[in-house]
Amino acid sequence: MWAAGARRPGLVLAALAALGLALEALVARRRRPVREVLFFPSRPSCTEALLAEAASPDDTPGPCPCPLPHGDCAFSRLLRHLLSARRSLELCLFAFSSPQLGRAVCLLHHRGVRVRVVTDAQYMALKGSQIGLLRHAGIQVRHDQESGFMHHKFAIVDRKMLITGSLNWTTEAIQNNRENILIMEDAEYVQPFLEEFERIWEIYDPLKYMFFSKENQ
Ligand SMILES: [Zn+2]
Repeated sequence: MWAAGARRPGLVLAALAALGLALEALVARRRRPVREVLFFPSRPSCTEALLAEAASPDDTPGPCPCPLPHGDCAFSRLLRHLLSARRSLELCLFAFSSPQLGRAVCLLHHRGVRVRVVTDAQYMALKGSQIGLLRHAGIQVRHDQESGFMHHKFAIVDRKMLITGSLNWTTEAIQNNRENILIMEDAEYVQPFLEEFERIWEIYDPLKYMFFSKENQ
């Protein structure tokens, strides 16, 4: 083959050029991995359009008449990334009481996304927690039974996008606290978080819950 190529260098060059073009097209089609940093507080904003669009992508909602701002902000960007889930969503959250994020997660569940939630037993019982609503919607939730807090705040979208940082999923934190979130699609960081989620998920299996200490049995 090399001998044939040597005899017809024009043909080899043409083949190489075609290969180069094909590779270029392939690289161009591959989306750049998401790498984004968000800082909070995020000003109060209307998320109706985002949620409505996620609920029924074929309908174009009219302009919203509410008095809240409707532009882009840290919170709307977080919501948009979450709503991009198509297959799975893992949530590992100390506090989850934001009604907007609760709606988004229920919506994904109804859309057929496999949602799993790990949370803190003490915090989930507090007023305003979304955990009861999520369970009511049929979403699997597991919690710790440890004296320490389940203090993580991370989410994994479609097993390829990691959302992690200081932000608890509460309106208070979103609108009033200084917080940070890192959103990335780098497999080397997503993978350990996925593994840790699976590990915690197994540890918090309800079959392993112990409601009495061993000494009392
Ligand atoms: Zn509005």
